[in-house]
Amino acid sequence: MTFDEFNIDETLLDAISYMHFEKASPIQEKAIPVALEGRDVLACAQTGTGKTATFLLPILQDLVKNGAHGTTSLVIVPTRELAIQIDQELQGFSYFTNTNSKAVYGGDKGKDWDEQKKAFTEGTNVIIATPGRLIAHLRLGYVNFRHLRHLVLDEADRMLDMGFIDDIRQILSYVPAKRQTMMFSATMAPEIQKLAKTILNNPETIQIAIAKPAEGVTQSAYMAHPHQKIGLITHILAQHPDFESVLIFTSTKKNISSIVSAIKRAIRGIQVEGISSDFEQNDREEVLLRFRAKQTKVLVATDVLSRGIDIKGINLVINFDVPRDAADYVHRVGRTARADAKGEAITFISESDIPRFVRIETLIERSVDKLPLPPELGEAPEWKVVERKPRKKKFYGKGNRNKKSSGNHKPFFRKKKQNTEK
Ligand code: AMP
Repeated sequence: MTFDEFNIDETLLDAISYMHFEKASPIQEKAIPVALEGRDVLACAQTGTGKTATFLLPILQDLVKNGAHGTTSLVIVPTRELAIQIDQELQGFSYFTNTNSKAVYGGDKGKDWDEQKKAFTEGTNVIIATPGRLIAHLRLGYVNFRHLRHLVLDEADRMLDMGFIDDIRQILSYVPAKRQTMMFSATMAPEIQKLAKTILNNPETIQIAIAKPAEGVTQSAYMAHPHQKIGLITHILAQHPDFESVLIFTSTKKNISSIVSAIKRAIRGIQVEGISSDFEQNDREEVLLRFRAKQTKVLVATDVLSRGIDIKGINLVINFDVPRDAADYVHRVGRTARADAKGEAITFISESDIPRFVRIETLIERSVDKLPLPPELGEAPEWKVVERKPRKKKFYGKGNRNKKSSGNHKPFFRKKKQNTEK
């Protein structure tokens, strides 16, 4: 389906063609017509599927058609990087329109704050904001959401993981009840469905396949002991001298600097940098800028970067360790092969990572090839899947029979969700 088959304005179609979008992606094909009718949307789609355009185009169409006075549209996102990226895409789509926008996120400069305040007081049409910074502005009383008619929650599952639920509820108390709400999430976990019930009004639910890495990604894995991993990176990079952009993910931020130093020691002259949420905003942006510009060849990152961030031309993603959450694997791997390009993803699996990798293979519904470790690196741990024994039925005994609830077996405690980046 092409974009001119949607009922959207010429100014937007021109911008779309300048951005070289030819065919609508599956999520766009399904969700844009619904959103254009002004209906609420609950969409389950991973990043890289084109979900940003899915909510931006219907918003812009409404603004072009019905006019925009003051702040009409609010997009809430989990990270600053995603806010900046959505704002950039919006600037592309709205190039031939009169719409303006502002990304609002925490920074360390007074200038940023003043510019954001100005955007609110002047009624910038589309605000793309991280929850904490938005609340800080809301509390000061000058934000006017009276004209708001679109609310988007992007990467809602990530926001819940990061503990933003109370912030989101607070923000909701500032926005008009009569509005169009669109919620995007990579998973449809029960908490997401619960949140959706409270904020969406008779939504159209759109599910784009289950989260699986894009077709263009070649996936493989090595079984490796922790001490073999740097040698393995050296080996892989030597095999691909033509690779310009390599992204290495690790779950723990305290590992980043040691991985960066070890790579520097192992491969002389290589441009490698690290990035995590510990970095100051400015430093993060500069590191990303150098990586985007291909000045930095290897970037070592935590999962902060695994969602949403769109950097073109990443040849290879290396999972230095197996992510705790199987969905994060899909997000990490999704950083390569963006928008139909080809890419490669290699995961290092240590013995203790095996059960997690099995969960990933279940999620993506395929087994990933385990490549033999180069002999000079020594012996690899064995890929050994231990079948889980079925749980034995508990015998409650006669006296306890009545205490057992019938059918409603709740776990004794619920594991608290937390930000997995350590
Ligand atoms: P997203 O899932 O919104 O992060 O989009 C992933 C990437 O695909 C971004 O670089 C978009 O600009 C690009 N993209 C989105 N929709 C299309 C499309 N229909 N055709 C080509 N590229 C697209």
